[in-house]
Amino acid sequence: MSNVFDNATIVAIATPPGYGGIGVVRLSGEAALPLARRLLPHIGDHEFIPNQAAFHHLIHPETQQPVDSALVTFFKAPHSFTGENVVEISCHGSPVVLAEIIRLLKSFGARLAEPGEFSLRAFFNQRMDLAQAEAINDLIHAQTTYQAQVAVRQLRGELSKQIKPIKDNLVEIIVWFESSVEFVEDDLDPLDIERFIKRLDDVIGKVESLISTYRLGRLIRSGIKLAIIGKPNVGKSSLFNRLLGRERAIVTHLPGTTRDTLTEAFSIGGIPIELIDTAGIRETDDLVEKLGVERTRSAIADADFVIAVIEANHQPAEEDLEFFAQLPINLFVINKCDLRLVFNAEELCGVTTGRPTLKVSALTGQGIDELRRCLHGELTAGAHPMVEGGIVTNERHYSALEQALAAMSKARHDLTSGFTEEVVLVNLHQALRSLGSITGETLIGDIINQIFSTFCIGK
Ligand code: GDP
Repeated sequence: MSNVFDNATIVAIATPPGYGGIGVVRLSGEAALPLARRLLPHIGDHEFIPNQAAFHHLIHPETQQPVDSALVTFFKAPHSFTGENVVEISCHGSPVVLAEIIRLLKSFGARLAEPGEFSLRAFFNQRMDLAQAEAINDLIHAQTTYQAQVAVRQLRGELSKQIKPIKDNLVEIIVWFESSVEFVEDDLDPLDIERFIKRLDDVIGKVESLISTYRLGRLIRSGIKLAIIGKPNVGKSSLFNRLLGRERAIVTHLPGTTRDTLTEAFSIGGIPIELIDTAGIRETDDLVEKLGVERTRSAIADADFVIAVIEANHQPAEEDLEFFAQLPINLFVINKCDLRLVFNAEELCGVTTGRPTLKVSALTGQGIDELRRCLHGELTAGAHPMVEGGIVTNERHYSALEQALAAMSKARHDLTSGFTEEVVLVNLHQALRSLGSITGETLIGDIINQIFSTFCIGK
C-alpha cells in the first residue's frame, strides 16, 4: 500500500465481482460528497440527509446520458465506517454500469482504493482496533455459522475487551515496579518482590487462559481434514454421504467404485471439516485403482483425523488388522450394523487398542448421531471450553500472546534470580508491546499495511 497516507478520496466496488441484483460503489474521503454529486446534477445542496438512503438518477455529466438509477446514502464524518465522509451508491449489479461509475468518479479525482483500505482508514481514524478490523475479514470469509458468530463477537470488540484489563494490570505492575526501584537505594524488599510476583502471576494466568482457547479457535478457523479409509465395499462412500447429509459419492455394490478421492466440506459443532473419501485400500493390478490406493496413502498423510471403516458382516482378515495397526487411525467404525455382526467387536477393539470403535449403519442412519458426537469430542479433546466473549482464532494474536507470556515468564524468572531491575523491566515492556500489537497500537505502519493488504478491495 503505497498511497495509504495520502488524503485522497478513495473509491471501489464493495460488492463481489459479477452480475447481481445490486452493486455497491463506496466512496470515502473529504471529497466523497462533491464527487458523488457530479453524477447527480439535479439535486440541491440540502438533499443529502446523513444516514438516509435516497433514490436518484445518475447522469453522465458531459453527455447527460443516464448511467443508472441508484439508492445513494451519505454517512457524515466521523459517523461512518471509515470515520470519513462516505457515500455509498447502490445501483444495479451490472459490471458495465459499476465500471462506468468507477471510471467517472476516478476522472473527477477519486483514487481507486487499495485492498483493505477502507478498513485501514477505519483503523487509523480509531473507528475500530486492529483485532476488530481483522474480524471483518474473518466474518466475510466465514464458512460456518459458528465461525461467523466468533468473528462477530471479535468485531464487537470482545477479544479487545479481554486484552484491555490484562494490559492495564501490566501497566500498573510496571509503574509500581518502576517507582519501587526509584525509591529504594538497595535491592527490593523480598516482601515487595513476593507481592510483585503474585500480581504478575495473575496476569500470566489470564494470558495463559486466553492462549488455551486457541486450540479450539484454530479448529474453528481452519477446520480439519478428515479421511475415511477402508477396504472396498465396506460403505465408505455411504458413510461419507451420511455425514454430509446428501448424495455426493457414487455408491455401488461393485468393489472399487470410488477410484478417485472426493472432498466435501461440512461441519460438526461449528468445526469446519473437509471430508476426504478415498479409494479402498487393497493390492491391485488395475492401474487406475492403484493410483487410488496411492491417493489413500497420501490422503492419510494429509489428514488431521482418520476414520477406518470395517463392515459388520465380514470378519476382518488378520492382515487387514495388522495393516490398520500400522496406520495413524483415530477412530474405527464398524459399518453395516443393520446386518449380523459376525465377529467380536470387543476383541477387535483389543487389536485397535486405545482407539474408539463405533457401530453404525450408513444405510439406516443408526449410530450416525453418536458418530458425530464422538467426532466432536475427539476433535475438541483437550481444547479449553470457550471463554465468555473471547476466543483466540487468529495466529497473529496467538503468537503475540505467546510472546507476551514468554517475556513475562522471563521477567518473573529474572526477578527471582537476582537480575537487575532494568533487565526485568525490559521484558515487562516487551510483554506490553506484544499485547498492544493485537489491537494494533504498538505495531509499526509497515506491518499494519501488510495485514490490511490481505483484505479484499472495497473493504
Ligand atoms: P465403499 O466402496 O467402501 O465406498 O462402499 P459403498 O458406500 O459404495 O457401499 C458398498 C455397498 O454396501 C453398497 O451396496 C451399499 O449400499 C452397501 N452399504 C453401505 N453401507 C451399508 C450399511 O450400513 N448397511 C448395509 N446393509 N449396506 C450398506
